[in-house]
Amino acid sequence: MIGARLTAPGRLEIVDLPPVEPAPGDALVRLHTAGICGTDLHSFHGRNPLLSLPRVLGHELAGTVAGGDTDLPPGTPVVIDPRLTCGACRPCRIGRSNCCEAMRVLGVHVDGGFRGEIAVPTERLHVLPAGVSLELGALVEPLSIGANAVLRGGVTAGDTVLVQGAGAIGLAALLLARAAGAWVVSSDPIPARRELALRLGAGAAVDPHAEDEGARVLELTGGEGAAVVIEATGRVDVLRRALDHVAAAGVVVTLLISPEALSLPVTEYLVKKELDLRGSRLNRDLFPRVIELLANGVIDPSPMITQRYPLADAPAAMAFASEHPGEACKVLLRVS
Ligand SMILES: [Zn+2]
Ligand SMILES: [Zn+2]
Repeated sequence: MIGARLTAPGRLEIVDLPPVEPAPGDALVRLHTAGICGTDLHSFHGRNPLLSLPRVLGHELAGTVAGGDTDLPPGTPVVIDPRLTCGACRPCRIGRSNCCEAMRVLGVHVDGGFRGEIAVPTERLHVLPAGVSLELGALVEPLSIGANAVLRGGVTAGDTVLVQGAGAIGLAALLLARAAGAWVVSSDPIPARRELALRLGAGAAVDPHAEDEGARVLELTGGEGAAVVIEATGRVDVLRRALDHVAAAGVVVTLLISPEALSLPVTEYLVKKELDLRGSRLNRDLFPRVIELLANGVIDPSPMITQRYPLADAPAAMAFASEHPGEACKVLLRVS
């Protein structure tokens, strides 16, 4: 069985891995498709502080049951929630296991799924209903990140939501905000990404480098500003802008992963404007919700799939995704 293992920053090697032995409580999954995520690219470039090496990357995983400790018949199509949580800490006990204090994530803290087979705790599996392909299954994890951001934003029908960034996570947030009944403005400097955002249902798309994002949002909302802003760019200066462009009494949700600090006049923003500034991490057991939306056809993320590579070409796929942010939205690896 081959796998794509990161041995040093920038060095992803195709290696021969020993067969997987599922432990008690683990199901064995034969992988079919694995998505390449921004996190994998950060890891590849040595910018993921949580990562230890060597590591088999990959956490956006769909495949079929191949045995192990599960009642699901062999061949059942499944997706894998890559979060391994403790179930005992306070966040786990209050239903927010996405903030588990002992969190381990496949492909980051433990070996992931850029390989033929993987053993995972059986409760991490979610069955894909008929009509949802394994390819779309590989998008459930990134969609769940968008679902979590929308949940954190408290987005409700009729809200105007500004989503900053139209990479895969920004587009996932857009789709999920639309599913919640919101009207969405997408903001991204890359034209191909703005086009994709409009195709996926954005009501308007703004180029924040060429236009005044805040002025455009005010214009589009009759002077009110966005009820919710979701920052999905990974940039502190963009998060700072979000706090200006959200309406008073609004919510800013950030998915930012950066060592940079945010400096903020607290009275102006958190007191006078009474803003909620909230982070969003991974997903709060939202796979069932996302799978239901896919199965009912409420969301169709298929335009997000831009390239497909065989697993053996994972190094080339990673390089392409890094070097062509406009052309590469979701790059998939075909495992089997
Ligand atoms: Zn991901
Ligand atoms: Zn926990």
